[in-house]
Amino acid sequence: MRVKVKVDNGWCWVYNGSMKIEFGLMSILSTALLAILMLIPTGSISINTIDLSVRINSDSVSLGFHPTFICHADTDGLPLGACFGNVVIVNANVPDTHMPRLIDHESRHLEHWKALGEFTWVARYILTLEPSYVDWRNSSIELAEMWKPPHGWPDRWCWLRVKYCLI
Ligand SMILES: [Zn+2]
Repeated sequence: MRVKVKVDNGWCWVYNGSMKIEFGLMSILSTALLAILMLIPTGSISINTIDLSVRINSDSVSLGFHPTFICHADTDGLPLGACFGNVVIVNANVPDTHMPRLIDHESRHLEHWKALGEFTWVARYILTLEPSYVDWRNSSIELAEMWKPPHGWPDRWCWLRVKYCLI
């Protein structure tokens, strides 16, 4: 890895360690989904959260960047809400009184994808990712039933991670 360093009389390149950029298949697929959703003329996309993380080990430092998005679109005929990776799609025609519960539900799925990565697809057979009961006016009941990553759980997936090896 070469690093540009400012010195008294200009810049110089320092060769040390190596840099690794992690932007895997899930990141590519979720970004492609987001790009497709941007093409829907009646839809709107907003940033839901932006998670920044820093991991420091004895031999490396890595920075994680994980944005999540919510897309409101006319998806009549499809499920009211869906989530893949860091992208949530909700039917824009859902009444305002029901929308908070739907967003809460899909936001929990965002946590699932971040915590489990591609294993989310198979985890549904082991963990309770979907609730058995839904109260449209109160999301707390279903959120209590839906699996939540325990505190300290090592996230399996981060949308973009830049790792700099010190050695
Ligand atoms: Zn669900």
